[in-house]
Amino acid sequence: MLITLFLVAMGATFLFRNPHRQTGGDPWPFQAYMRRTMEFRNSLEAILADTMEIRTARVEEGGTLGGLLYQTGIEGSRYLSCCELFIDSLGWTSVRIGDTLQAFYARDTLFEVRGIPVNRRGYFRILFDRSAAALEWEWVPEDNYRRLRSVTLVVSSSVWESIAGGGVPRDLTPTGHIVTARDSIREVAYIKSFEDQLANRLFVYDIDFYYDVQPGDSVWVLLEEVRYPMSQETSFGRIIAAKYDFALGGMTEAIPFFHRPDSIAPAGTAVILDHYHRDGASLRTMFIKMPVPFGRISSEYSDARMHPVLGYTRAHRGIDYAAPMGTEIYAVGDGVISFRGWSGGYGNLVRVRHVNGYETGYGHMSSFATGQEVGSYVRQGDVIGFVGSTGLSTGPHVHFEMKKNGSYVNPATEIMPPANPLLDMQLQQFNQQLPVLESTWSRMAGGCLPVPEAEADTSGAE
Ligand SMILES: [Zn+2]
Repeated sequence: MLITLFLVAMGATFLFRNPHRQTGGDPWPFQAYMRRTMEFRNSLEAILADTMEIRTARVEEGGTLGGLLYQTGIEGSRYLSCCELFIDSLGWTSVRIGDTLQAFYARDTLFEVRGIPVNRRGYFRILFDRSAAALEWEWVPEDNYRRLRSVTLVVSSSVWESIAGGGVPRDLTPTGHIVTARDSIREVAYIKSFEDQLANRLFVYDIDFYYDVQPGDSVWVLLEEVRYPMSQETSFGRIIAAKYDFALGGMTEAIPFFHRPDSIAPAGTAVILDHYHRDGASLRTMFIKMPVPFGRISSEYSDARMHPVLGYTRAHRGIDYAAPMGTEIYAVGDGVISFRGWSGGYGNLVRVRHVNGYETGYGHMSSFATGQEVGSYVRQGDVIGFVGSTGLSTGPHVHFEMKKNGSYVNPATEIMPPANPLLDMQLQQFNQQLPVLESTWSRMAGGCLPVPEAEADTSGAE
């Protein structure tokens, strides 16, 4: 326990130290920290070696949880509580080949059992007291840290291929190669996220990735990645900055600006990242056009009016996009979820409140995205639900509607202002930061740099 506390304290000291205030010449503080931590842990383990024993068992063909418990010497009431807690309380219902059980003994008394499933980032833990009663049981997620990586790619035939050819980190998988099926799934996911963020999010208004891209174009990207030291895996995080140089001349940039979210975001929302051109103009508009990718308009917007011939009212104050069942539905702009639930003819409905008096609604969903609720702050392009046919609906589609100051407007004809424009003070700050950022990037020279955790905005909305 003391070891853990010490390590946590060291970790916290590192994470909350302001990197800009750092003196001394070590450009890789995280590596030095990891080295010190490992040295400390190794020496401590040597001291404890006499009194502490770790018994490990691994699942082979046909193996069971009971078998693992027996192999590590767990019997009697501890055996029964392990079965009950792992299966019923922690939900580790079936073991697979490669799953590992570790039993920790101090002077022959069991004090901790860890169940480590393969392909999951973390482990189940049960702690025992001296009298064999289980004290605590929990899922312990694997520690990770974020790092920055600078990548330069030269486009050969497509951006996808250049990412696959040189944009994937060498430590994406434990072996550094694509060996298992899981490795290749992770590689494809990495490339897909990279391409999606670059082409469909960041430069969606500036570059047409089907027509503008030429062999010889070059892309520089500053990426944030998530590194899992225990699993020895890396995941794609987000693009921090990017620059696209066209072989035929000209370039476009995405320069980051971290700022507090707009006034409607709940207090405590983390600092957000937006991208701007060099002159401070936003890279994106307040709303994207469609809430689904590749949606086909199946019903246009029309205001309520009495049909002159037919004599009945035909109003459709929204746009219907037909899309396959289960297609992801995006929030078209940054905002706060103001409604999420069943609403008569809309079926499953989500409403999002935006700045400037706007609100958008998304109806007939088959299901909602997990991890969100009324009051959650969502960013443009975040998935908020999935296409369905609930409520008054004849087939899978999303009914998309927009209100401004409480009245319906046609989303297709509404003129969209830029997203999160920089106000005077912010523009000044942006201009001051730019040379500092650029000198940092140039010093990275293709390497990685760990980044401290993003701090939550605890000062309340402005
Ligand atoms: Zn509709």
